[in-house]
Amino acid sequence: MQYVTSIVPVPADLLRRQATHVETIPARPGRPVDWPSWVPSALRAALRSGGVERPWAHQAAAADLAHDGTHVVLATGTASGKSLGYLLPALTRLLVDERATVIYLSPTKALAADQLRAVNSLDLPGVRAAAYDGDTTREEREWVRDHARFIFTNPDMIHHAMLPGHGRWTRVLRRLAYVVVDECHAYRGVFGSHVAHVLRRLRRLAARYGAEPTFVLASATSGDPAGSASRLTGLPIEAVTEDASPRGALTFALREPPMLEDTETRKSALSETADLLTDAVINGTRTLAFVRSRKAAEIVASMASRALDEAVPGLGERVAAYRGGYLREDRRRIERALLAGELLGLASTNALELGVDLVGLDAVLICGYPGTRASLWQQAGRAGRAGGDALAVLIARDDPLDMYIVHHPSSVFGRPVEATVLDPANPYVLGPQLCCAAAEAALTPRDLELFGPGAEAAVEGLTASGALRRRPTGWYWTRPGTPDVDLRGTGGAPVSVVESATGRLLGTVDAASSHAMLHEGAVHLHQGASYVVDVLDLDDATALVHAADPDYSTHARDVIDLSVVSVRSYVDAGPVGLFLGDVDVTSQVVSYQRRRIGSGEVIDTRPLDLPPRELRTVAVWFTISPRELARAGLAWADVPGALHAAEHAAIGLLPLMATCDRWDIGGLSTAGHQDTDAPTVFVYDGHPGGAGFAERAYATATAWLGATREAIAACACETGCPSCVQSPKCGNGNNPLHKPGAVAVLDAVLAALPQPVPSQAVPSQSQAGEPDLGRRPGQAAECGP
Ligand SMILES: [Zn+2]
Ligand SMILES: [Zn+2]
Repeated sequence: MQYVTSIVPVPADLLRRQATHVETIPARPGRPVDWPSWVPSALRAALRSGGVERPWAHQAAAADLAHDGTHVVLATGTASGKSLGYLLPALTRLLVDERATVIYLSPTKALAADQLRAVNSLDLPGVRAAAYDGDTTREEREWVRDHARFIFTNPDMIHHAMLPGHGRWTRVLRRLAYVVVDECHAYRGVFGSHVAHVLRRLRRLAARYGAEPTFVLASATSGDPAGSASRLTGLPIEAVTEDASPRGALTFALREPPMLEDTETRKSALSETADLLTDAVINGTRTLAFVRSRKAAEIVASMASRALDEAVPGLGERVAAYRGGYLREDRRRIERALLAGELLGLASTNALELGVDLVGLDAVLICGYPGTRASLWQQAGRAGRAGGDALAVLIARDDPLDMYIVHHPSSVFGRPVEATVLDPANPYVLGPQLCCAAAEAALTPRDLELFGPGAEAAVEGLTASGALRRRPTGWYWTRPGTPDVDLRGTGGAPVSVVESATGRLLGTVDAASSHAMLHEGAVHLHQGASYVVDVLDLDDATALVHAADPDYSTHARDVIDLSVVSVRSYVDAGPVGLFLGDVDVTSQVVSYQRRRIGSGEVIDTRPLDLPPRELRTVAVWFTISPRELARAGLAWADVPGALHAAEHAAIGLLPLMATCDRWDIGGLSTAGHQDTDAPTVFVYDGHPGGAGFAERAYATATAWLGATREAIAACACETGCPSCVQSPKCGNGNNPLHKPGAVAVLDAVLAALPQPVPSQAVPSQSQAGEPDLGRRPGQAAECGP
């Protein structure tokens, strides 16, 4: 049987059914411009023969700036051809200056490999492009050091290999003309903060050898790309954001799965996705469904396949789960099958999201909000063959953020995507990074400026602790070898995840997250593949795992205790106080739940025996006086449940304001905390020293808590559900929760807080006006990250 596969087969009315909102984003014509005059004719000819007739305006604008030596970030949509923006200046320099070098950094090996292949296909004389990553053999590494001019690598290799061994890289560093940072929005949170210092270390050593490279960054559309890129590199950056590539119209539908008849439960997002995929395939629409894990991808593909076979025997074969990982051959095979129309439906993990181009799709189904508007647009941007019209559908999961978004379309449409949050000043990142820098070459007082305002104090602390030694020529690393610093962690040795059967190191997990993510029995996802943890050896910092595809997910539970160390900033709003400060959190993972994938049904809860962990971090918190709570109509007995419910929803909604995941954040609520002497809700960064999330929450408090209030109030449930105030990671088993009370609390807080929240520095010495941090015993409703 032959199915119609016209270029624009979007069954809009089919997918509009039951949508909470449908947004139409109009088509846009492309705006090509002439080649910049400085592009050598050989390069133009090579690009033309590769199918690029002329650049789009944004590509030329970024290239012009970079060519002039201006640091630039190109922040435009998926498939807008950002690479030409950096390839033009980089390749031009390599062609006209035969000793110049360029370093290209990518967050994924696959993307670097794609870019390297694209450069090699241009077949330009003397460019000598090469990959330098974990797979590069020793001989190849030597060749790269001695001969390569366009080096495709990643921040880890720069950190672990190039900078510590800089003496062998002088040829590259001395003539370093450009540093290209691709997909730079991936560098966020703790990892981003580390990478920010790796780039500063690279700049410092390049400068020692006499080079001041121009930075060219490429980013998905993001809020304040110039600001984020500047924080990442420490340099002034100009942004090019106007996308001049052509685009077909995009119809974007938001929908919530319906309630199951005669129940209080909703149809699962996975089966809703499978149903939509089925409908789309019957219509001949080439569709990709994004889900969280490979297991989920398999479930969606097999559900759709079965339904299709029932409708038309044989049709089920035209749906597949995409398990190819990053292998180019697999991608090409699937692309060919899609283009030929042999394959119509694909379910994949969002591993495909980062930079990898899979063309030939008409529609994209996004099962669950991917966490950021940036990712949402990145995934939706996959739809639209050759500029043809396209369809995207976001299917909400049982989660307050998802539900809020499908009922508040303005939270995703017509507003900029989030700013990428990173905090290079985090002392838990800055200190280790300064040690790395000192080990590479003694730190001078002038160097400290490069590492930011906290660097001086950090160096003094490191000197006092004996890690660094002050000599007339600067600060020196005193210990043998190089500092052992993991770019993805803060403090504590990262835990290695090792596959027992093969001894293969799958990756590492930040010590801070290891108890919750790698406890015995935990399902560990690695690049979409799943493993089950057999042993977590804390002394050895190793978790042994075996490959397995269980039909359940695991959810760790912990109990926490929190004390306030100091207040950084606060707003005194009468009966309500809003605070940002440093806190000590003690948490202990005590058990975990196993839940069926798809239905979310709890299979069982199993106890764990893990020691408590201490965390010094940054928190935002609000207090509200008991009298004000009474005025809001709350019975005192309902206060713990009201605060607890508000805390859960507030954690769930914070990713709307900052590029974090709810798993990056923890919280605690209590009707009376010893340090605040009032009913209090704390929300804290789950990373030692903080990763910038609490600051962001404080700065956007009225918008954040306003959205939280809306999410709770709009939920149709009566007593609270996973779509509003229940949390998947509550340490207290979601008890107590008081949904209407949470709305009352948030109303009272929002009525009292000024808009917007002014920031007010706290005097360093205790004096009049400082908030009362007196003690009063209270009952804590605790839940941790
Ligand atoms: Zn609800
Ligand atoms: Zn809780």
